[in-house]
Amino acid sequence: MSDPLHDRDSAEATLRQVYAAAVPYLATLADRPVHDPATESLLVELAELADGGRLPEKGVGSVAAMERLLRVGTTVATHSAGPRFFHFVVGGATPAALAADWTTALLDQNAAFRATSPLAAAVETIALRWLRELFGLPASYGGALVTSATFANFTSLGVATHWWAEQHDVDVAADGLTGLPRMPVLSGGYLHASSRKALQMLGHGRDTVEVYARDRVGRADLPAIERRLAELAGPAVLIANAGEVNAGHFDPIDTLADIAERYGAWLHVDGAFGLFAALSPRTADLVRGVERADSIACDAHKWLNVPYESGFAFLREPSRLPAAFGMPGTTYLPGPASPLWSDGSGGPVGSRPSSARSVQPEVPAGPVDYAMHGPESSRRARSIPIWATLAAYGRDGHRAMVERQLDLAQRLARLVDEAPDLERLAEVPLCIVCFRARPPHLPAGELDDLNRRLGAALLDDGRVFAGTTVYDGRIALRPAIVNWQTTEADIDLLVEVVRELVAQLAPPPG
Ligand SMILES: *Cc1c(COP(=O)(O)O)cnc(C)c1O
Repeated sequence: MSDPLHDRDSAEATLRQVYAAAVPYLATLADRPVHDPATESLLVELAELADGGRLPEKGVGSVAAMERLLRVGTTVATHSAGPRFFHFVVGGATPAALAADWTTALLDQNAAFRATSPLAAAVETIALRWLRELFGLPASYGGALVTSATFANFTSLGVATHWWAEQHDVDVAADGLTGLPRMPVLSGGYLHASSRKALQMLGHGRDTVEVYARDRVGRADLPAIERRLAELAGPAVLIANAGEVNAGHFDPIDTLADIAERYGAWLHVDGAFGLFAALSPRTADLVRGVERADSIACDAHKWLNVPYESGFAFLREPSRLPAAFGMPGTTYLPGPASPLWSDGSGGPVGSRPSSARSVQPEVPAGPVDYAMHGPESSRRARSIPIWATLAAYGRDGHRAMVERQLDLAQRLARLVDEAPDLERLAEVPLCIVCFRARPPHLPAGELDDLNRRLGAALLDDGRVFAGTTVYDGRIALRPAIVNWQTTEADIDLLVEVVRELVAQLAPPPG
């Protein structure tokens, strides 16, 4: 059996295999250690299917291949979809999102154009509208589903680049950056590395961004930002960070929106997980002003708890998306005849406009050719799991999940405060608790080393996962709580494991 055509009948058997493995996996996920490094020896079974680990000439057949994949996969996987993975900011997949993600693979739609899938185009339009409503953004905002917040930053800053070049009477989509000055990009110190990566991919260079911070934590130096914008006296891009990864801090978005307005700057908000603060009246104030942003980047694979890869960007003027990401003039792709390309004045978007500034096409209310709205062309129907989780649990369900995690973060903060060998380093505005081990008998000069070793020991132990960072010049842990399954018991276990390891690494004297 080599040709897949003769394997059609195996589809049912392989899906049953997946189901049979999934049920016990999901049932035990919540109680599993996050990772057991000893299991990694099994990985050789994936590499060495044939002699010498080479690509097999004759395949083993779908059932045998899946048997191996499921056995190795469910064992070796980092069980980050479960409730005890507090490293980075990841999230799991709600039952509805998981089932819908499988359905996405079943239907295998190409969500590039209406012509390739009216279903995917329509679901994307609905999902974007629901996300906009979930975050309370004005109806004028429109968006693009992309792979991640990195690509949401890329998409947003790509549109910002197009806008900025327009101010210099250049169509950057057609002509590129040649001849233009450096695009000024300003931020406070909470800037995420992915914004730099986006600038590097867009050809601006990652060091283009000017960071104005008033302390080691990264709080934005607003007067310095304002002075710089005044000095520039021209179009600039201002990045506001809604939820930074060390402690969940927020820039004052409303104030930055005032500043952006005063100087005519483009305001981009990176709200990869912080935008979810909008879901609860308890935290909505943190993102006040986001509805004034020109562009917003966010992740659904984080706090919405849908599978990877799922990010999205919102633009205040969504018609700028096809202007920056369209592919005009290709005969077999949708072109100027499509309503997407109409700018209301008869001229197609993307052909050289008589005045770049006049390009303000209407955004169609119905399904659009979303490949023209973002960096990808062929693309997965990643709207389907978003649609499913929002359909299944609604605004109330997602608010309840966020508020539970806010409570869990406060519980963790309290447990840290009560522990004589732990020290909290920051307020807990959202879902991240930044703290370090600080056994009373240890000299201050040894704390960074202890905490570095604690971070490594925690990952090695594997019962719970959390990562280290440098916060205010000190090595610290920064667990993030965004998984739909996490409960108080998981938080208690995190503290228990951390304290157990601290006692081993820095045993009290006597
Ligand atoms: C996670 C994160 C990103 C990058 O998201 P990816 O999905 O990993 O690309 C960007 N900004 C912030 C603030 C983040 O937390």
